[in-house]
Amino acid sequence: MPSRLRIAVQKKGRLADESFVMLKKCGLNFSVRGDGLLSRVKNLPIDLLLVRDDDIPNFVASGASDIGLVGENVFAEEATGAKSLDVKILRRLGFSRCNLCLAADKNDNIQNLNSLNNKKIATSYPGILATYLKARNIDATCVEMKGAVELAPRINVADAICDLVSSGATLEANGLKAFETILESEAVLIGSGRKLAAEKQSICERLLSRIDGVIRSKDSKYIMLNAPERQIEAISKILPGSDAPTIIPLGTDDDLVAMQAVCTENIFWETLEALKDKGARSILVLPIEKMMN
Ligand code: ATP
Ligand code: MG
Repeated sequence: MPSRLRIAVQKKGRLADESFVMLKKCGLNFSVRGDGLLSRVKNLPIDLLLVRDDDIPNFVASGASDIGLVGENVFAEEATGAKSLDVKILRRLGFSRCNLCLAADKNDNIQNLNSLNNKKIATSYPGILATYLKARNIDATCVEMKGAVELAPRINVADAICDLVSSGATLEANGLKAFETILESEAVLIGSGRKLAAEKQSICERLLSRIDGVIRSKDSKYIMLNAPERQIEAISKILPGSDAPTIIPLGTDDDLVAMQAVCTENIFWETLEALKDKGARSILVLPIEKMMN
C-alpha cells in the first residue's frame, strides 16, 4: 500500500478553522464531518488526524502522526521543560497569535514579577511557567488548572494567573490585568527528530513548499505601473521588498516604460503617493494567490 503522510490537527476549537483554511490553500481537498478521527485528503497521499490540541506534540513524538499543526504555547509546554518530547518546529504559520501572560487582579499589589514571590499562580502551562520563574529566581507555587484559569483569583485558588491572552477581553471581564508576557505564540507546524521514510519525506517537502508559498503570498502584492525611463532607479528604491522589477518599453514618444514587480511587503497608500511623486502613473496593486520559487 502506498504510504500516506499523517498530519495531526485540532478537531474543534480556536486553532481548527484557520488550520483547515491553511491546508485548503495548500490545495488539500478534504472534508471534516461528524466524529471521525481520520479525514482522507482526496487529491494527495495525506490523512488528517483530528484530535485535541494537547495531544498533538505527543502523537508526533511517538510516530502516531508524522507532523502536526498546533499552537506554539502547546508545543512549548510539551516539548520543553520536564517532558522534553523529541519534536521541533518546522514552520511558523503566522495565525492564531496570542500571548501567554501573567496577570492579577487589577486592584491588587501583584503587578510585577518580583511581587510573585511566595504566591500561588494558576495555569494550564505549568512547564513553561516553572521554567520562566526559575530562570528569574522567583519562588512561587504553580496551581495547575485545565480551564477557566481566569476565575482562580476570585475563588481564592491562586493569587495570580498565567494564561493565554489575545484581545484581553476575558481578563478585563474578570477584573484582571496582564503585567508580563512569558511567550508570544502563533500556530506552528511540528515534526519529530526521527527521519521519515523517503516516500513520506517527499510528500512532506511538497507540503512545506506549498505552505511557504501560502505564507509568502499572504503579504505579497503584484504592482504594475507606467513611469518615465529616467525614473526607473528612483521608483525601484520605493517598491517595498521587491527584487529587480521587470521593465517593458512602451514605445511611446515620451520614453515611458511599464514596470512590474512582486513586493513581499504590504503596499500602503503612502507608498503609492511616493511613487506618484516620482512620476509613476496608472499604478495597479494586485493580490497574489499562489507563489512558488
Ligand atoms: P482542545 O479541545 O483541542 O484541547 P483547547 O480548549 O485546549 O482545545 P482552544 O481554546 O481551542 O484550546 O485553543 C487552541 C489554541 O488556539 C491555543 O492553544 C492557542 O494556541 C490558540 N489561541 C489563539 N487565541 C487564543 C485565545 N484568545 N485564547 C486561547 N487560545 C488562543
Ligand atoms: Mg487543549
